Amino acid sequence: MTEEMLHVPEELKDVVDRANRIAIITHVAPDGDAIGSTLGLMYVLRGLGKSAFPVCQDPVPYQVNWLPGVEEFRPSPPADVDLVVSIDLSSLDRMGDAYDAGALGHVPLVNIDHHVTNTHFAPIRWVEPKAVAACEQVYHLARAFDYPITPTAATCILTGLLTDTRGLRTSNVNARVLRVATHLVELGAPIGEITELAFNRKPLSVIKLWALALQHLHIEPEGIIWATITEAIRKEAGHEEENDGGLVSFITSAEGMYVGVVFTEKPDGQVNVSMRARPGVDVSQVAFALGGGGHPQAAGATIEGPLEAAQARVIALLKEMLAQHESVRAQETVSVGGSE
Ligand code: 5GP
Ligand code: MN
Repeated sequence: MTEEMLHVPEELKDVVDRANRIAIITHVAPDGDAIGSTLGLMYVLRGLGKSAFPVCQDPVPYQVNWLPGVEEFRPSPPADVDLVVSIDLSSLDRMGDAYDAGALGHVPLVNIDHHVTNTHFAPIRWVEPKAVAACEQVYHLARAFDYPITPTAATCILTGLLTDTRGLRTSNVNARVLRVATHLVELGAPIGEITELAFNRKPLSVIKLWALALQHLHIEPEGIIWATITEAIRKEAGHEEENDGGLVSFITSAEGMYVGVVFTEKPDGQVNVSMRARPGVDVSQVAFALGGGGHPQAAGATIEGPLEAAQARVIALLKEMLAQHESVRAQETVSVGGSE
């Protein structure tokens, strides 16, 4: 029997009760869950009569640029907020320039997050690695405190739930998650439209980017597959966003591979490392050791270049991790519950 609800700290209700002008800040280079959880929480809080402001250092990505409220995102909060909620991020630095400690240090800081690598930086926090998305936490928070979830809020929340599970396809999806998704659909979230918009369309530049990056695929005998997006490739493809459009998940699906990595060269010479692991392998600790973070199956970091040195460092760490991992085996059979 899968646990129905996640436990939400009561403290969060007291904090919300006391606040009137709330900044919700999500992580740099935001993904669907970052944007969906920020907007979902924004609409829930507005339903309580609060003012809520969505904040992110970087622009909303193509995958979710159609969500209601995306035009409200701002790079920093208004000066007079009385609460800051950081969401879908595991450490203070992930807010980037959106959080100015000098200006906001006196304002209560809350963290709502589901990363196993969370550094517990916020004095008031709800860190729940069992949640498949920060959006799942927004859902449980609203339910625990009887906050209304409008169709607009449900749409934002379901979007992040779907994007962080790649369309309910990750190994952490269970009956609880499906119940949450079902309830959000009942509350008015158009699941078919969301799926179409979030998964069945990509900018042409992403397809070109994949075509170029896949020409130089590296396969390590230990079961690591990796690709590189250089500045030159990104320019040739005409891809302006920082993300890889899902390339890392795609290559990790290759038969016999345990870990997939995409290295992306950044304009400032740093290198973004995006990793995925098949179930049974955990890349979150390698990401944490590199100064980043994430989940067992999806994690990342930004590290110093140059590119070749960064690649050598990461591949060596991953090989070390896999060597310590005695029973590594990509799942190729299904276990069934019950007997016949
Ligand atoms: P992605 O590979 O899609 O960029 O990120 C996968 C996961 O790792 C996400 O949950 C993301 O929040 C986390 N992650 C990626 N880069 C960083 C980073 O630089 N620092 C931290 N703390 N987490 C990261
Ligand atoms: Mn997330």
